[in-house]
Amino acid sequence: MRETIIRLSSSALKSAAVALVLSAVAYFAGVNVVMTFTISFIGQFVIFYLYGSFLELKAAQIVKEQQLKELEILSRITFTINCASCKQSNEVVINANDENHFECEHCKAKNSAYITAEAALVTTPISNKI
Ligand SMILES: [Zn+2]
Repeated sequence: MRETIIRLSSSALKSAAVALVLSAVAYFAGVNVVMTFTISFIGQFVIFYLYGSFLELKAAQIVKEQQLKELEILSRITFTINCASCKQSNEVVINANDENHFECEHCKAKNSAYITAEAALVTTPISNKI
């Protein structure tokens, strides 16, 4: 909280300094000094708010892209699958979110890999004493 107040105060002082410089230029140019100070002071907050919002959106987009890449990497699993033609084993990277085809390393036959799920009965031991 204290750090936020220090940052806001520092930012306001810097904005006021820039507005004063622009007001001095306006004074020598014969333009309304108070109006120039007010517009340049408030304008800096608007510009930096918009710039900050843009940076936040860009950072959020980068984080989303990284998460999608990580999910894609996690959905790939390497299996050893026997060829449907020659029954030789092949190392195949399976993507859980896509159809999976591979060419046999041995006989060059085109294969499809299907993911199946099987149920196993959960049993409890009758006795722990052997
Ligand atoms: Zn084969």
